[in-house]
Amino acid sequence: MKNFKTESKRILDLMINSIYTHKEIFLRELISNCSDAIDKLYYKSLSDNIGLSRNDFDIKIKADKDNKILTISDNGIGMTAEELENNLGTIAKSGSLAFKNENEKKEDIDIIGQFGVGFYSVFMVADKVEVISKAYGEKDSNMWVSSGADGYEVKPAKKETNGTDIIIHLKPDTEDEQYSEFLEYYKLRELIKRYSDYIHYPIKIEQDVPAASSDEAADKKIETKKEWETINSMVPLWRKSKSEITEEEYNQFYKDLTYDYEDPFFHLHTQAEGLIDYKALIYIPKKCPEAYFSKYFERGLKLYSNGVLIMEKCKELIPEYFGFIQGLVDCELSLNISRETVQHDRMLQKIASNIEKQIRKELQNMCDNDRPRYEEFFKAFGLQLKVGIYNNWGMDKDKLQDLVMFYSIKQDKLVTFKDYVQAMAEGQKYIYYGAGNSILSIKKMPQTEKVLSEGYDVLCMTDNVDEFAIKYVGTYSEKEFKNVTDGDTGIENSTEEISDDDKPIIELIKTTLAGEIFDVKLSKKLGSHPVCLSTEGEVSLEMEKVFRNMPAGEMTNGDIRAKKVLEINGEHAVYSKIKSLFETDKESVKEIAEILLGQAKLIEGLPIEDMDRFISLVAKHIS
Ligand code: ADP
Repeated sequence: MKNFKTESKRILDLMINSIYTHKEIFLRELISNCSDAIDKLYYKSLSDNIGLSRNDFDIKIKADKDNKILTISDNGIGMTAEELENNLGTIAKSGSLAFKNENEKKEDIDIIGQFGVGFYSVFMVADKVEVISKAYGEKDSNMWVSSGADGYEVKPAKKETNGTDIIIHLKPDTEDEQYSEFLEYYKLRELIKRYSDYIHYPIKIEQDVPAASSDEAADKKIETKKEWETINSMVPLWRKSKSEITEEEYNQFYKDLTYDYEDPFFHLHTQAEGLIDYKALIYIPKKCPEAYFSKYFERGLKLYSNGVLIMEKCKELIPEYFGFIQGLVDCELSLNISRETVQHDRMLQKIASNIEKQIRKELQNMCDNDRPRYEEFFKAFGLQLKVGIYNNWGMDKDKLQDLVMFYSIKQDKLVTFKDYVQAMAEGQKYIYYGAGNSILSIKKMPQTEKVLSEGYDVLCMTDNVDEFAIKYVGTYSEKEFKNVTDGDTGIENSTEEISDDDKPIIELIKTTLAGEIFDVKLSKKLGSHPVCLSTEGEVSLEMEKVFRNMPAGEMTNGDIRAKKVLEINGEHAVYSKIKSLFETDKESVKEIAEILLGQAKLIEGLPIEDMDRFISLVAKHIS
């Protein structure tokens, strides 16, 4: 009995004691090795003119339920005794990734899930493994056998043909784990379909089929016979040419891929050749997954290499703002390199960047040429794009700003910034927007009415992220964005010069509301409204609301307040009443000022802190 090398022992321990939930991936790993071994012999045959054809090869899977043994066989290159020793006694290259995080169980699980760890993963399901192998062209065959931690043995064995049999003695079933399900035809079939469908060589399962022939039927004792059935399709959909694939096939493939019950909104099939060869099949779903913004959501595309699924969710392939995109990438990662993230990082980045550009191009195209369809997309994913502008300090704003839309009050539909700027009135300096809970509430704001009355359009920002995203966009087509509640909207004469008569009144209101208000002004832009709030500086009222609603503790922004300016309509009856009360009843002026502030806050959807007081003041002054 020989001991495993230290590194191998570590990874082996990891496998034996694995709490990883997808133990089934061992099958993918072993099949992938079989496929590699066949590839090696096939290439050898090509280069040495041995004359073997692709059709001479297969991978066979046999379940022995009575003895709980699963056998996986290939007729590939095989291994000599020395190779058995070197390849299965030491696992350094595939394993090296795992050692970085050996103390972190969770990280380990990620590694198993994402890259697999090759041959040793079989110890997640087996308590003993025998590998009987005969190298091509050799006359001896050998067996490598191990029950895991204790070590392994290599000894002579009997095998007629070249290739390798992996004989897996499954662990006994426990309450939590049904290892024996790996002996069931349907389970094996499902796993092969899911993980190894596109392996180039036939993967066959031995199955009992009814003995149909009359000869056999005549012999009552034989009711079934054994037959090898090929399970995998061998040609992946994305490798077929586009013209060969029907819309229905694309849709069905999407549903199998994502478990979505609806057809996708859109698909993109690219087959790139040249410096980097890859094929990608990308889908935009109809709806955004519900957990999208939760920490449980995992974005990513499936990553295939040489027909083998390497990674379920490769997040490096898709930027965060396109996290809703589903699909896969198949690229030519070399056999040995396939499980080392680090080394093909650069290539994946290049592929990711190509895919990102293509998706954006398609969306831009749709936005420019098929607006109704784009609107459909935008209604489902607009928020994600806007969050994308905001995230990473606006790093991706240039990529996304032409893809976002806001409701335009004048045009009564969603418009892009480009649409807005193209329709701007002569001499208009700013891109105006209002922010609020709904389009209706923004439309009703006195400040909105004032800007509209100047002939300028107002965009409605109704999502929390909107104004924050706009801050990062900064300017569009050299036009600055301007909130209609900004103290300076660039529209002239909106506030009055305060006359000497009004000065002491405004001063009294200002001192009364000092804690909450930065300034008080008399305004002309209010039409029939008695009062409104505007702001000075960077933080708008909507932004204050967003900060307020952030979970306590998560951010320390909860007490960020807008610099509020109370604008009172100097032409309104309420102000006349204030004026007439000023000489005789300053207390009432102060109380009415509080009521006005309360009203202004209600219009903006801001909370009134002392509601009891507000209600009794209103009651007092209307009775
Ligand atoms: P990897 O496949 O990533 O190299 P594995 O742990 O899966 O790592 O396998 C280790 C080595 O064992 C392989 O590189 C290969 O040389 C050898 N091997 C495994 N399975 C087979 C097989 N069925 N036929 C021939 N060689 C094999």
